[in-house]
Formats: sequence, structure tokens, C-alpha cells
Amino acid sequence: MIETGEFTLDNRLVSTQESEEDLALERGLRPLSLSEYIGQDKVKENLAIYIEAAKRREGALDHVLLYGPPGLGKTTLSGIIAREMGVNLRITTGPAIERPGDLAAILTNLSPGDVLFIDEIHRLSRAVEEILYPALEDHAIDIIVGKGPSARSLRVDLPEFTLVGATTRAGQLSAPLRDRFGIVQRLELYTPEQLSDIIRRSSQILGIPCTRDGALELAGRSRGTPRIANRLLKRVRDFADVIGDGQITEEIARTSLDRLEIDNLGLDSNDRRMLDMIIRGYDGGPVGLETLAAALGEEAVTLEDVCEPFLMQLGFLSRTPRGRCATRLAYEHLGYPVRQDVPPESGQLLLTQE
Ligand code: ADP
Repeated sequence: MIETGEFTLDNRLVSTQESEEDLALERGLRPLSLSEYIGQDKVKENLAIYIEAAKRREGALDHVLLYGPPGLGKTTLSGIIAREMGVNLRITTGPAIERPGDLAAILTNLSPGDVLFIDEIHRLSRAVEEILYPALEDHAIDIIVGKGPSARSLRVDLPEFTLVGATTRAGQLSAPLRDRFGIVQRLELYTPEQLSDIIRRSSQILGIPCTRDGALELAGRSRGTPRIANRLLKRVRDFADVIGDGQITEEIARTSLDRLEIDNLGLDSNDRRMLDMIIRGYDGGPVGLETLAAALGEEAVTLEDVCEPFLMQLGFLSRTPRGRCATRLAYEHLGYPVRQDVPPESGQLLLTQE
């Protein structure tokens, strides 16, 4: 768990990071087939065809790279691929494979056709990547046996397998690794309607009564991310039990999320504090990330990884070479008046004096 000042990445309700609590919750909620998997229609259509073709050929599916923000269903999809192919799934992450030997041990234990899922694949070390290349292309690895002059390279054949790599940052993947994936699919943020379908599905599984409008209200504040939607559902259930009759209605959802300080766009108090500081403390920017972090008493990397991606996606924050700027949309969302006579490039959208 990363703790910095007032932020605690893992316990933030709208964090996309997976917590222990999520793991327990998600285990029972993961869709098990493509037909249960909501949204991402293009990805599903393509995968259905590739899976069908591989099954007809009686071969392994080509290697798949899934990329997109955390919590959108990459791990879930890898499980579905394995299930639809009728093979085992082995899950690991880039940082967990420290040495080439770790990867060799995993690869030599695979059965024919198996799916190996490597999350955060952009974090594999160079040395580990080198082992992966021949494994992906020739189904073999070269192991060095012995040391010094007597060392020799031993080629070990592997069964045919499918690597499913997941990354939040496709740009950070080395070109040789990226080129070895035959299927590359990008996952998109979900629409409120899709998220509300996911919430209704989860609420049925968990036995939480939830009206259509209640689900939509939760969906609108879930940042396009199923992981957050499921987490909010679980939290709001407590409010429904205590302040209502157990059913999540629009009213209960709105009241609970307001109390949890998650606003109608899914911003929480940390997001708003950051925007507020840029607007009121620095006339809307530009302000350097380090300066901003110091003013808020936070780590720069926390702001960068936790708040910025979503604020930029909403168009509330822009990054310029001179620093971060709050946009007109941010002023409007936080209810600040904007001085219309100031050109955006000169210092920004100054507040009117009231
Ligand atoms: P990622 O690997 O991209 O971080 P996960 O696959 O762990 O995301 O998904 C997080 C949770 O969100 C899963 O447990 C699952 O319950 C839910 N989820 C993700 N995508 C979908 C979907 N398309 N339909 C239904 N639930 C989903």
C-alpha cells in the first residue's frame, strides 16, 4: 500500500487500483464467458472469431495484448479466453517475474494450449524479455547451464501456449515485445449505460436490490470503470441498509455518494482539492507539478497517477510545458466564475473579483 500524506491510494473509493477487498469482491463477480462480458463489443467480436478459428485448427490462440486503464476487465478477459478455449489459466505480473529463471519455471510448467496472463507486462526486465522472445516464437527457451568456460546453452522445448499480456501503458512496451503479439486490443472506458448493466448484474449476484435509476446514478459516478462501479455498489449497500429499506434507489445512491463526497462526475475530495489549488492558489495555472504537490502536501507521483488521468480525461486539466492548468470546464464544475477577457494562453482563466 502506498501512503502519502492524506492520500491512501488503496483506500480511495474511486481508485482504480485493486485492493484486497476488491479481490474478494471481484472473485464472485467476474463474468465467465464472452456473452456475460458487458460492453467492449469490438474486442469481444474479434476475440470470438480468433477463438473459434483457433479451436477449429485445434491449435493455441495467437498471443494477445490487451491495453487500457486499470479496472476495465483485462484480467477478466484473460480468464474468459482460457475458459472458451477449454485450457488452464496461469496468472502472474511483470514485477513478480524478477529473474529469467522465474519465467523459465513458469513456462516449463505450462500444458499444451494454456493461457499465461502477465499483468503489467511493460514492467518485465530486459533479461526476462529476452527469454520470452524465443518462447513466443519458437516455443522453446534457451537455458544457460553451468558457469564460466564450461557454461553451455541448452534448448528446452515448450508446449504451444497463448500469452495474454496486459498493460496500462502500451507506449512503454518495447517494440520487439509488442511485435510478437498477433492480436492487439484496446479496452475503452465504459458508458454509464454499460456500467449500469454491470451494476445490475453484480447486484443480482450479491443479492442487493437495486432499481434501474439507482444503478444509473452509481454508474454516472464510477469513472467509466467496472472495478469502481462494483466498489461503489458495495459501499452504497451499507447506506441502503441503514438509512433506507435495503434497496438502492436513485435517492439512496445520490445521498450516499454525496456523503462519501463523490460528486456527479465521480470526482472525490482529492480531485477537487487539486483543482481548487490550481484555480485559487495559482490563478488557474500553469503551475509545475512539484510546486503543486508541495502546496497540497502530497507526492508528485501520487497526483500524477491518482488524480491526473481522470481529470485530463474529463478535460478539466491540461498539461503544458510550463505546468498544469485548470480548464474552463473545471472552473464551471467547481462553480467558479471565469473572467472572459483573459486569453487562455496568458496565465489562464482568472477568477472574477466578487
Ligand atoms: P483489469 O484487469 O483491467 O484491472 P479486471 O478484469 O480485474 O480489470 O476487472 C475488475 C472487475 O470489474 C472484475 O472483477 C469484474 O467483476 C468487473 N468487470 C470488468 N469488466 C467487466 C465487464 N465487461 N462486464 C462485467 N464486469 C466486468
